[in-house]
Order: sequence, then structure tokens, then C-alpha cells
Amino acid sequence: MALVNKNRDAAPGINTRSIHHGESFSSETGTVMPPIFPSATFAHGNEYGFDYTRSGNPNFRILESVLSSVERCKHVTVFASGVSAITSIVSTLGKGDLVLCEENLYGCTVRLFEEVFRRFGVKTEWIDFTDNSNLEKIDSLRPKMIWLESPTNPMLKVLDISEICSFANERAIPVVVDNTFATPVLQRPLELGATLSLCSTTKYINGHSDALGGAVCTEDVRWKEQLDFAQKSLGLQPSPFDCWLITRGIKTMPLRLERQIANALALAKQLSNHMKVEWVRYPFLASHPQHEIALKQMQGGGAIVTAKLKADQSQTYAMCKSLSYFTMAESLGGVESLICHPATMTHSSVDRDTKIKLGIDDGLVRLSVGCEDLEDLSIDLNRALETLR
Ligand SMILES: *Cc1c(COP(=O)(O)O)cnc(C)c1O
Repeated sequence: MALVNKNRDAAPGINTRSIHHGESFSSETGTVMPPIFPSATFAHGNEYGFDYTRSGNPNFRILESVLSSVERCKHVTVFASGVSAITSIVSTLGKGDLVLCEENLYGCTVRLFEEVFRRFGVKTEWIDFTDNSNLEKIDSLRPKMIWLESPTNPMLKVLDISEICSFANERAIPVVVDNTFATPVLQRPLELGATLSLCSTTKYINGHSDALGGAVCTEDVRWKEQLDFAQKSLGLQPSPFDCWLITRGIKTMPLRLERQIANALALAKQLSNHMKVEWVRYPFLASHPQHEIALKQMQGGGAIVTAKLKADQSQTYAMCKSLSYFTMAESLGGVESLICHPATMTHSSVDRDTKIKLGIDDGLVRLSVGCEDLEDLSIDLNRALETLR
């Protein structure tokens, strides 16, 4: 059974690449969608090099191949979740190694560094990478790795990835970018100089909130070898079925995002003009503090909108609950709209001082805008905001 590579030409556009992903098993069966390969083990000496699913499976390879086509990079390794992908990278470090992190990283990344890898001797420093004078800290701290995320959660801070990477590359320090919020449709960190681009495929790449996954992309074959090693030696592999679902989901990613971004921009503008809204954060609004950088490195503002309401904690919570089409839930990136109230949900266990430092106000809400009709979302939001009067 031959793996047919349909994507020899790099020229096709993002929609075409997402749909006609790199490999299928069509030559013998005529199948349009790839099959699922639940086999745990493979006959020794087969021509594709599969031996045991913890270290590789045809469904992993199919997904890796479409991701490499979408991200336009040489190598991808898939994992069971975004957190597994992060674990694989951190597991290449050793006792005493320092990771210089953007201070506003995704909460579970912070927890992994501080509550797990710290016990194994991996050290961290946290800085604000939007402040250029902080780049000097790279020289004084001499980190083994730099960890960025842009836009960040939930404040949608935008970091100048190419500027930070060129500074780090001159010093041969690898840079990791968590690209989950932007997706490869809007931002390709490797082209901006990053060593590794990681994402939680649970979010926009799958897009249907029905599977977990993660992926790390790189141009460097030595990194690819280390990531594959981590996948099998730490047991971070995904399931063939989840890979199959994500392979199905990715086909509509650019199409979904087109609608989601248009909805998000319109709702961001609507909220900006609402009396009960103190401010709105959206990378493609001129009011965003790093708007110019966003325009330079992103092909769209994304589909997350963060807003601060003129309301206390219980009013904000009640407003979120009163929405019809925005389910109050964690996670993001699916076709359905969600709303998150960080103060009582994702950041509820964070102490008051840290909340203030991170800007997690009681009136803060984060919208993950879906593919519904804009008019329905718009009416829903306006009606819910009425409850604040
Ligand atoms: C969700 C998320 C992760 C973790 O991904 P999981 O698939 O939930 O493990 C990492 N980074 C960011 C920015 C995320 O949004």
C-alpha cells in the first residue's frame, strides 16, 4: 500500500494544502479519506519503518504531513495534547538549564514549568517581551531556551517574534513559539526565525472540540529526532483515531477561520462602542497596544476577543451565563462560540496580586468567536449586556 504524496508542488494556496494533504492511501483502494490504523504493532522490517504505535503510526504520519504542508516546514511531530507537545520540548533540557519565558504564558505551561520541571532542576525567569529593553536580559541571564507565545492568553499581547528571534539567533539560543492562538494560517513563527513552532491542535486546527492533540514544527532535523525520541520514550503519542479526527478537521481550518475572524472583528468593533464596555483588546483594532506588530507578522487578527466590562464579578458572571450562543466554557477555537470569565474559571485559583499583575480583572471576559451567523451573535451579546444596566 503506497503513501501517495499529492503535494509535490509548494505553490498551492492554504485551502488547497489543507484539503489535499500530503499523504493518503488512495492508490490501491481509491479511498478519498484515509483509513484509521488502530494497530498497536507492525510487522518487523516493513518498508515504511513502523514498528509500534508509541513511536509512530500511519495516522500520525498523515497528520504530520498535512501540518508540514500547512506550516510550510520540513518536520512535524504530533502528540497527545498541547501539553504533551510542551513536555516533549522541555524534556530535552536538564538540571540547571534556564528557560527565559514571556511572563504571560498559557496557564498550564506555567504550571508545567513551576510545579513539575522545577523539581527536575529546570529553572525559569519571566519577563515582558513587549519591552525591548528586556532583550538585554538574554545576555545577562544566558538562557538555554526562550519561550514565547503570541498572541497571549487572555490579554492578547503581541510579541515581535522576528525581532526577538534575530537577537536570540545571533546568540544561538533556540526560540519556541506557542502558535496556538494564531494558527499557521495567520502566523508562521519558523519563517520569523523561531526554532520550534508548537500548537495545541485541540483548538483551531481540529476546530470541532472533539479531540485533543498537539504538534511541534521545525526545520531542524536534529530537533525532529529529539521530538520523536520524546514521543516514544515519554509515551506522549496521540491515538490514531484522534489524529484521524484532526486530519478531518484541518481540511476546513482556513475556511472556518475566515468566518471566525470576520465575526470576531465585527464583534470587537461592536463591543468597543458599547457603553457597558470599558475596553476591548483585539490585535487588528487600532486601539491594540501592539497593533503595528500584529499587522506586520499576522495575516489576520484571530478569533479571540478580550473585553473588560463595567461590572463586578457576579454581574459579569451572570452576563456570561445569560448568553444563548456563547457557551460559558474553557478552551477555544471550535466552530461554536464560547465565553470565558477568567476571574472565576481559568484563573480562579490565582492569588489576588498575580491576578492584578496579569490584568485579570473581575469584569474581564474572553470570547472565542465561532462560525455562527454574525447577526445572531451580535444580538445575543447586546441582549446580555443589557442585563448590566
Ligand atoms: C490549550 C492550549 C495549550 C494546551 O493544549 P492542550 O491540547 O489543552 O493540552 C497550550 N497553549 C495554548 C496557548 C493553549 O491555548
